[in-house]
Amino acid sequence: MTELACKKCKYINADTSICKNCGSSEFTKEWFGYVIILDPEKSEIAKKLGIKVPGKFALRVD
Ligand SMILES: [Zn+2]
Repeated sequence: MTELACKKCKYINADTSICKNCGSSEFTKEWFGYVIILDPEKSEIAKKLGIKVPGKFALRVD
């Protein structure tokens, strides 16, 4: 299983060609670190990163 980070929103997708968070099809294997967002509504990190769905997000993508 390859985990690819979306270049637009940093959502980490597994085995898909369309990002589940933003619908983008641009991914990168070059990502570092991640945060798991369980409740975007209540998470300060999610607000900062513009995250709207629960899931795993890369901290940095190249
Ligand atoms: Zn995305």
